[in-house]
Amino acid sequence: MRIPFNKPFVAGKELYYIAQAVTYGNLGGDGHFTRQCSQLLEERFGIQRVLLTPSCTSALEMAAVLCDLAPGDEVILPSFTFVSAANAVVRLGAQPVFVDIRSDTLNIDDSLIEAAITPRTKAIWPVHYAGVACEMDRIMGIADKHGLRVVEDAAQGVNAFYDGRALGSIGHLGCYSFHETKNYICGEGGALCVNDPDLVGRAEIIRDKGTDRQQFFRGEVDKYTWVDVGSSYVPSEICSAFLYGQLEMLDPIAVRRQEIYQAYRHRFKRLEAEGLLQLPFRPEDCTSNYHMFYLLVPDVATRDGLLDHLRSRGIHAVFHYVPLHSSPMGVKSGYHEGDLPVTESVSGRLLRLPFYYEITEEEQQAVVEAVGEFLRNARQREGRGRKQHTPQAENRQVVGSVQG
Ligand SMILES: *Cc1c(COP(=O)(O)O)cnc(C)c1O
Repeated sequence: MRIPFNKPFVAGKELYYIAQAVTYGNLGGDGHFTRQCSQLLEERFGIQRVLLTPSCTSALEMAAVLCDLAPGDEVILPSFTFVSAANAVVRLGAQPVFVDIRSDTLNIDDSLIEAAITPRTKAIWPVHYAGVACEMDRIMGIADKHGLRVVEDAAQGVNAFYDGRALGSIGHLGCYSFHETKNYICGEGGALCVNDPDLVGRAEIIRDKGTDRQQFFRGEVDKYTWVDVGSSYVPSEICSAFLYGQLEMLDPIAVRRQEIYQAYRHRFKRLEAEGLLQLPFRPEDCTSNYHMFYLLVPDVATRDGLLDHLRSRGIHAVFHYVPLHSSPMGVKSGYHEGDLPVTESVSGRLLRLPFYYEITEEEQQAVVEAVGEFLRNARQREGRGRKQHTPQAENRQVVGSVQG
């Protein structure tokens, strides 16, 4: 590919810090760099306790245990998301209850949450798509009223804000990802943000194989032992050292991502004005971290054709996501196509464009030109071939049609 979808970026001191970690002689977890990263995130984002994990997936698994999920329990979450949250729920025998998304932010539709609550509901797990916040005041209000826990899937939301508060710092728990496709990376990595002080102690135990080893290290107990369920959720110092090199550069990375985002947005304005595509939406009170740049096109055939066209030009764009309720696992739990119309419409029409720190102006321009060329030609073809439209294609087009 001439223009890849993602290119991991080394901000500066990552390799130096890894070498330093090696000389410190502690390559297991919770050494110097793990502490530095946690402290930096706690201070910058106002989080009670940040526990680094090997991935966001493992942070979500810890959150599921901290929500005391058990067979028969239900958790409300969007279907338009990555599989990790739903997996964390079903691993404990609980049931994900999928709610449709808003057509503007593509986040869980807060107006549909209350209707999905039953006596078995234990928690709400909102996902901040593309680093743009869910309606957290409303979601926290609903959770308070019904005595539910809120876990923010802020995998894409590190260094993004809702009404001045960092994503991941608002719910009882929040989960970050430092996977190489995210804004701040260490290959594979994540963190559990513990905002409810009552959950800190148990979170430390779950993370450290179900033992009270953290208390032992602090001298609070004289030997450590198995006290609860847990697993191996502590990342190595090698990963934390790399991550510290990235977190030190939090602001410059954020500035660069904003530039890339604005450049795409500016160059696509014209195509949006021509009605050929729809650009991302951000509410006033949300400060984005510019995690991605996506486009919404009129229908699934146009989206798939556009992906192929870009590929033929050496440009790697991707779709996002296959909705969880229409996956084999979703169908097995009784969901059908048509259950979540906005989710189905959006996932068929969305594509994500190449987005990485080192993308050049020329590369961005080439992407914009290739998109414009395809969409203008598609419109002409449609004009000529209108009478040959299949009924299926028409259906796809009207379901949950979005204006932002
Ligand atoms: C990337 C992502 C995850 C998974 O993160 P890992 O660190 O790869 O486990 C979970 N949820 C969402 C919304 C994501 O975008």
